[in-house]
Amino acid sequence: MIIQLEKNITRGEREILLNKLETLKIGARPVKTNFREYIVGIPSGEFDLREIGNLKGIADIHRVSDSYKMVSRKWKLCNSVIDLGDGIKIGNGELAIMSGPCAIESEEQIESIVGHLVKNNIRIMRGGVYKPRSSPYSFRGLGIEGLKLFYKHCSENGIRVITEVMQVSQVEKMMDYVDVFQVGARNSQNFNLLDVLGKVDKPVMIKRGISGTLDELLYSAEYVFSSGNEKIMLCERGIRTFERATRNTLDLSAIPILKDKTHLPVIVDPSHGVGIRKYVPPMALAGVMSGADGVIMEIHETPEKAFSDGQQSLYYPQAEKLYRQLRETKKLVDSF
Ligand code: PEP
Ligand code: MN
Repeated sequence: MIIQLEKNITRGEREILLNKLETLKIGARPVKTNFREYIVGIPSGEFDLREIGNLKGIADIHRVSDSYKMVSRKWKLCNSVIDLGDGIKIGNGELAIMSGPCAIESEEQIESIVGHLVKNNIRIMRGGVYKPRSSPYSFRGLGIEGLKLFYKHCSENGIRVITEVMQVSQVEKMMDYVDVFQVGARNSQNFNLLDVLGKVDKPVMIKRGISGTLDELLYSAEYVFSSGNEKIMLCERGIRTFERATRNTLDLSAIPILKDKTHLPVIVDPSHGVGIRKYVPPMALAGVMSGADGVIMEIHETPEKAFSDGQQSLYYPQAEKLYRQLRETKKLVDSF
């Protein structure tokens, strides 16, 4: 059960409500977010909702049978929209395209990609400065100095930055240079990190774990929401299966299912989803056909020289063709 409190609830009204919940043996977990205040009620048995609904100070009350609550569509029917300012929104019915390299490599590379994005009217750039790598000997990112350069060039060109945060200690120092924090697949269930990201007033994109279920992804989002941050989106980036023909198996069915289960925007990452350049465009288009609110993809001017994930990064001309196709496909989906 979710109880949304009136903004001007008095101390007395709150006390009466909490006492009532206690009498009804309903566990109460207060949730205060960047938008509202709620009480998540965990009932221990049957109860009559009217006994609570009539109390003062309550704006709205809903039974939510899912075990994740705040991120459930059963509570909130309308889609959550992430507003990045300057008309850049995610989940508002338009397709959000986030494009950029796997890793930020140099200032020249940032400039080259920013030029490509501006030319193609892409308003969000991806790029890692802290890279989770399977081998400790691989390139692990330029760190905070790389992020500062990344942010500088993007903000000068009206482009928003999405980048991965790997650990709690990075959050604060990254804060001023990030528009969206990305939680990578390997950190999808790093509950300490999720808790901390619940305390920041910046959107968070949570990727599905390498062998994470959809419920686990929704619970991860519930961590961020219940710690105070409503600005969340989810990302399907492929899961590990027995199939070896692709890097991962992009679970397209996750997209309509997540759209059904949650009000949060859902993004598809075909780059990590298949891991092979030539299969990225068809899977990106399939993601949009499946109802994704956005696509996040890897590009590089010279993918063969990329420090990481070159094999799945698109050349600029390929990316340009794909942006056009994605926009056309979105129009098609909207016309159904
Ligand atoms: C990435 O986006 O570069 C990345 C490392 O993704 P994932 O966490 O999905 O592997
Ligand atoms: Mn990558």
